[in-house]
Amino acid sequence: DSFDAMGLQENLLRGIYAYGFEKPSAIQQRGIVPFIKGLDVIQQAQSGTGKTATFCSGILQQLDYTLVECQALVLAPTRELAQQIDKVMRALGDYLGVKVHTCVGGTLVREDKRILESGVHVVVGTPGRVFDMLRRQFLRPDSIRMFVLDEADEMLSKGFKDQIYDIFQLLPPRIQVGLFSATMPPEALEITRKFMNRPVRILV
Ligand code: AMP
Repeated sequence: DSFDAMGLQENLLRGIYAYGFEKPSAIQQRGIVPFIKGLDVIQQAQSGTGKTATFCSGILQQLDYTLVECQALVLAPTRELAQQIDKVMRALGDYLGVKVHTCVGGTLVREDKRILESGVHVVVGTPGRVFDMLRRQFLRPDSIRMFVLDEADEMLSKGFKDQIYDIFQLLPPRIQVGLFSATMPPEALEITRKFMNRPVRILV
């Protein structure tokens, strides 16, 4: 039950320890390893369990840092949560040189365009703005291999279902999907059935 035993890269471990984490939480203990193996994972967990660091570590471990193209996309229901994820991703990935950008409403589209075109490894955002960036082709989906839906139940209850489906249609087929949700309403189960491949289920 340590981060050391998970097979994570040295520079990711440094980021995790520098952030102040000493031991993995229950969800991290069970969720990080299947994610870094490239498996689809459904994690039913409340906020406060350490889910953010679970998928951030999973993504950071698998990025190809020699390729400055978007390889991972994370969706969240609110701007605040997206910004929080951005912060954790940057902190844990500090020694890896990760480039992260957050696409949310209420900011300048031309700033998003400029930063996306300058090259990033990870994009975090809310469904509306992310779909807009994909639709305008400021965000190129060709290199995306990992897709995380955080607080999926919240996104669905906010009416983001159509945008989530639209985003799935624009992403390459057979990408790795991680779905995090406190509850599993029928619409969340439908996403797992439609878009996930033999997912591992973890209930914390
Ligand atoms: P989350 O569920 O991702 O919103 O995380 C809840 C809180 O737990 C955040 O303040 C994290 O910084 C903290 N946290 C997550 N993982 C760990 C860990 N392994 N050790 C200590 N604190 C943690």
